Amino acid sequence: MPPLVLTVAGSDSGGGAGIQADLKTMLALGVHGMSVLTAVTAQNSRGVQGAWELPEEAVRAQYRAVVDDIGVQAVKTGMLASAALVETVAELLAGTPAPVVVDPVGVSKHGDSLLAASALESVRTKLLPVATVATPNLDEVAQLTGVHVVYESDMRVAAEAILAYGARWALIKGGHLPTGQEAVDLLTDGTEEHWLRAPRHDNRHTHGTGCTLASAVASGLAKGLAVPEAVREAKEYVTGAIAAGFALGSGIGPVDHGW
Ligand code: PLP
Repeated sequence: MPPLVLTVAGSDSGGGAGIQADLKTMLALGVHGMSVLTAVTAQNSRGVQGAWELPEEAVRAQYRAVVDDIGVQAVKTGMLASAALVETVAELLAGTPAPVVVDPVGVSKHGDSLLAASALESVRTKLLPVATVATPNLDEVAQLTGVHVVYESDMRVAAEAILAYGARWALIKGGHLPTGQEAVDLLTDGTEEHWLRAPRHDNRHTHGTGCTLASAVASGLAKGLAVPEAVREAKEYVTGAIAAGFALGSGIGPVDHGW
């Protein structure tokens, strides 16, 4: 039986991010992917045209259906849309022994909000405490902690703020930092520090990058890797997926899972 990974996230009708990116990543990495849908977006390469969240009851029922019969060895969360859904998902995950990768999705690359402003406090106080690894980008870090990262050294301050909310590990994604030829991320649990560097690819087709990275980390954890190893392998996977990102529609295309 392959390792079992569950994504709790939103649907991207364009197939580039969200649930679709998660399941493609899981297939590529040899794990069995399962999904709890939280919201449906009408979305393409130009942005998000509409978003509808599912009732809490539907989220609970999907989760119970998977856990009570099949089981999970790692969970990844993505778009959770509202405070009510953040709290529902946090409550469900508080009871799981499986590692949980929290991608605290806030705003899409096109600037479309995927999380209500009123949900930020629930992410801080309910969701981050159940995270084995939290994977915010610099915008999400600023929203959640008020830390504005300008220099690489600020990433340590950002990570400490995320850990202070209760996440076991913080993976601060510095991809948007103006650090020249490298994309730099910091992974830390407050004791160990791992700086991950990858060549920066000059490719604007990067839709779904965050979803892909978090799903790859969850896939590694489900295979039994330790967090630093799972993150290192996930970064390698996403770097290849970004390099192979391709044009689709008239806007920003997706990263490629078939590279
Ligand atoms: N749509 C959904 C459903 C998502 O979950 C996400 C990111 O997590 C996005 C869109 C945004 O993707 P990106 O910022 O890579 O364009």
